[in-house]
Amino acid sequence: ASTLKIEDLTVEIEGSEIIKHFNLEIKGGEIHAIMGPNGTGKSTLASAIMGHPKYEITHGSVILDGEDVLEMEVDERAKAGLFLAMQYPSEISGVTNADFMRSAINSKREEGDEISLMKFIRKMDEKMDKLEMNQAFSQRYLNEGFSGGEKKRNEILQLLMLEPKIAILDEIDSGLDIDALRVVSNGINEMKSESFGCLIITHYQRLLNYITPDRVHVMMQGRIVKSGGAELAERLEADGYDWIKEELGIED
Ligand code: ADP
Ligand code: MG
Ligand code: MG
Repeated sequence: ASTLKIEDLTVEIEGSEIIKHFNLEIKGGEIHAIMGPNGTGKSTLASAIMGHPKYEITHGSVILDGEDVLEMEVDERAKAGLFLAMQYPSEISGVTNADFMRSAINSKREEGDEISLMKFIRKMDEKMDKLEMNQAFSQRYLNEGFSGGEKKRNEILQLLMLEPKIAILDEIDSGLDIDALRVVSNGINEMKSESFGCLIITHYQRLLNYITPDRVHVMMQGRIVKSGGAELAERLEADGYDWIKEELGIED
């Protein structure tokens, strides 16, 4: 199984330290959740791992199966098996959803071993059915004019199509109604296997009613301050974050 090892990671944005000596290891077969109040650096962590140029990594490492992710170009990270669903997916005009996904799949494969058009269409149909998406979405420009919920569904479609080794999903549940939440959760649950590890970043506990994480981590002020099992998410739903702040003597 694959392993993503985030070690002692420190990330700055415009000179201020947002992620502080952050440590986490995710293995294939495991689902981890990071929860935490707004502004604690959850999205910064995801963006930094994916190689967003605005985020400066001043310390630490991110290693996927022995390879230094931070040394890779952004497209190499995807090719190495890393997948990131952003909190705010971007729109690409002039590129259809189907074309985008087909080239994303092929860029992960060796030259001469590209997925055939027939196989691609069959797979895309199957996954779209599973996500209860209208077939018309395959010919629409990527994310252009998609509603918030449609974008999130489309991110999960990419996940099912690309079959990464490790996925980081940032607020994949935000803005979803209950039906979309169920569909998106089913998609993630379907991926669960020894060859897939997942980090779910969420502000709310409700996604975790559908996906049972193996580990739950609470993030505050740029680092993990508490870890536990699925019961930790339930406690957060019931009691919020204040008790942790008190326990740790953290001031707002
Ligand atoms: P979360 O996802 O946990 O809500 P973020 O990672 O989005 O938190 O933000 C963490 C902190 O970094 C916040 O104080 C936010 O204002 C700051 N921050 C995030 N992105 C930028 C940016 N592009 N420029 C300046 N500050 C930023
Ligand atoms: Mg936020
Ligand atoms: Mg965020």
